[in-house]
Amino acid sequence: VPNFIHSENAMIVTGKIGEVRKEVGKARAAGRTVGFVPTMGALHEGHLSLMRRCREDGCWSAASIYVNPAQFGPREDLDKYPRPFEKDRSLCEKEGVDLLFAPASADMYPEGHSTWVTVEGITEGLCGAFRPGHFRGVATVVAKLLLIVLPDAAYFGRKDYQQLKVIERMAADLNLPVRIVGCPTVRDGDGIALSSRNAYLSPKERERARVIPGLWREISSRWGRGVRTAGDLLAGLAGELAKHADTVEYFAAYHPETLREAGKDEALAFNPVVALAVRIGATRLIDNFQPGVDGL
Ligand code: AMP
Repeated sequence: VPNFIHSENAMIVTGKIGEVRKEVGKARAAGRTVGFVPTMGALHEGHLSLMRRCREDGCWSAASIYVNPAQFGPREDLDKYPRPFEKDRSLCEKEGVDLLFAPASADMYPEGHSTWVTVEGITEGLCGAFRPGHFRGVATVVAKLLLIVLPDAAYFGRKDYQQLKVIERMAADLNLPVRIVGCPTVRDGDGIALSSRNAYLSPKERERARVIPGLWREISSRWGRGVRTAGDLLAGLAGELAKHADTVEYFAAYHPETLREAGKDEALAFNPVVALAVRIGATRLIDNFQPGVDGL
């Protein structure tokens, strides 16, 4: 008896760009809407929530796993980034992904590759100020992946909020015929956002990281009480964060579309995104929270 749990077809796994184009072409010829979830692997519930959303939207779904060297700085964790491919493949299969694209760098950046996508403005602050070249790497690989898969919709997590805004900007500016869908951050039971990099944290460091969801709860409660300036929304909280983190790269309230930092006494006529990057031990963590929009 055949097993029809998810779909009549087994998941296609390929590293070849030509095969992706061929399979997506078949899906489209069969009248399917094509959805796409790009990832760097080491999959967790955050990634899986994107795949689920893609299928819930009725898409024929493609996912990619590619640890993109172009978005890592020279002193960053490219070499030690986790790559549990067999586990990832079976998670994709369980989620009913139709095609998994896992390219090699020789195919993504062949000899002579020299075209880069640079998004200006919105990439300058927040992570952009601490990871020079990072968003150039992200925008380039995402543009390439979108042009390989040519999906109708592509799904990204709000966990990487600045990245989501950079990709929206790029897709609009390059007239890519793709709908960019931002999806809620998935958190662990203790409120810490799921991240492949959480695996680097020791148990003690993990405990220190709980300061972050604590800030979000406090900000959420202040917002609920009607606090409407960045100064009052964040009063005392930077100190609290600095007590638990080894380094605070940034922690501030930003306009949700332009990512301009809100003035301390500016009356907030929008729901700001409060975003941070910290180092705890050797691990760099980012998270963000938009009061009145995000749940906890
Ligand atoms: P990454 O593998 O870290 O490049 O992430 C791939 C995609 O998953 C990106 O769109 C991320 O924003 C998204 N993602 C990562 N962590 C989470 C999370 N905790 N909740 C929702 N989406 C996430």
